[in-house]
Amino acid sequence: MTDYPGFKFEVLHEDSASRARVGRIDTPHGSLRTPAFIFCATKAAIKAASTADLEAANVDIILANTYHMLIQPGPDLVAEMGGLHKFMGWDGPMLTDSGGFQIFSLGQGTEADEIKSAGARKQAPLLEKLTEEGATFRSPRDGSRHTLSPEASVEIQRKLGADLIVVLDECTPYHVDRKYTADSLALTKRWADRSLAEFERGHDGRQALYGVVQGGVYEELRRESAEFVSSRPFFGHAVGGCLGAQEDQMYDVVRYSMEPLRCDRPVHLLGIGGIRDIWEGVEMGIDTFDCVTPTRIARHGWALSREAPSFRQNLRNAKFRNDDRPLDEDCDCIACRRYSRAYIHHLLKANEILGLHLRTVHNIRYMTRLLATVRAAILSDRLQEAKQDWLHGA
Ligand SMILES: [Zn+2]
Repeated sequence: MTDYPGFKFEVLHEDSASRARVGRIDTPHGSLRTPAFIFCATKAAIKAASTADLEAANVDIILANTYHMLIQPGPDLVAEMGGLHKFMGWDGPMLTDSGGFQIFSLGQGTEADEIKSAGARKQAPLLEKLTEEGATFRSPRDGSRHTLSPEASVEIQRKLGADLIVVLDECTPYHVDRKYTADSLALTKRWADRSLAEFERGHDGRQALYGVVQGGVYEELRRESAEFVSSRPFFGHAVGGCLGAQEDQMYDVVRYSMEPLRCDRPVHLLGIGGIRDIWEGVEMGIDTFDCVTPTRIARHGWALSREAPSFRQNLRNAKFRNDDRPLDEDCDCIACRRYSRAYIHHLLKANEILGLHLRTVHNIRYMTRLLATVRAAILSDRLQEAKQDWLHGA
C-alpha cells in the first residue's frame, strides 16, 4: 500500500448546506489552503510574472505542464538543474499533469476549447497512434518520435520533481459515443494501475499521486471511474476529460464524478476555473482548480473585475482613456495601488510591455482574493450569501 509520509490532507471545516469544505494540503514544499486556484506556469514560467510576484499575490501553488517540459528543455536537463522548484525559483507546492492532455488535443484549436468543444474532432497531427502501451507522437520542435506511456509519464514527472503528480489517461473528445468512451475508460483504468506500479517502484516520499476520473458525459461511466480511483491508493483525485458542451452539462458531469469519490482525499478539477465555475465547483466539493484564463486574458488587454456577467474589462476600450480610478478599488496589487485605468489603457495603446505585467499581476491577485473570500465564507457558514454577492445572481 502506497503511503505519503511527506503529505497530508486535512479538512478543517465543512459547509452544512453543500459539499464545500476548507482544508489544507501539506507537501514537502509547504502547505496550501483549499479551496485553491493553481496558476499555470505552463513552460515553467507564469508569462509576464516572476515567482516573487506570485509570492506578493499570496499564491500558494502553481503547476507546470509535463508535455511542454518534455519538448523543451527536457526532463533530464531539469533534473540536472536540481528539479523544477530550483530551476524556476519557486519553493512552494507544485503540480505537474501527465502530459497526455496536450498530446490528445494538440492541433485541434486551443487546449481549453477542446474540453468543452462540441465540434468534430480532427486527427491531431502530433498524435501518431494510441495503443495499449501509450500515446505515440511527434515533437513539433524537432520531429522526433516519443511514446508517452503511463510509466514514462510517472518517470518524467519524477525527474521534474513536482509535489503533486497525475497519472496518464486518455482524454476523450466531446463527440465520441458511449462505446468509445467505455473502451477508453477501460484503458485509462489499466493505465492507472500501471502508473501506480511505476510510482511505487520509485517512490521516495517526495511526491504524491493523483488518479483521474474520466467517463466523458456518461453518468454511469463517471460513477464507475470515480469508484475505481477511490479503490486505489491515490493521494488525491482529479476530475478530467470531456465535461460536456455547455456550462450546465459540465456541472452535471462534475457532480456525477464527485458523488462516489472518497471524502478524505483532495479533489482537483482539471483545466476549469472560471469565476462561476469556482463557486459552483466548491459547492460540489472541488478543492483545487486550474485554468490559464486569468493570465491569458491579461496578455490580450483584459483585467478581471467584479462586473457581472463577464467579470472582466478590456482596457483597450476608449472609455478608459481618461479614467483615473484603479482597476479595482478594493485590490491591493501593485497595479491597483499605483496606477490608473487611463495609464494601463495608454500602455496598451503604446505597446508597452509593462501593461502586460500589470494586468497579469492584477488578475493573479484577483484570483487569490476570490479564493480567500470563498474560504472565509465557508468558514463562517455563509457560502451562499457570498456566492450571490460575488456573482450578483449572474
Ligand atoms: Zn489589482
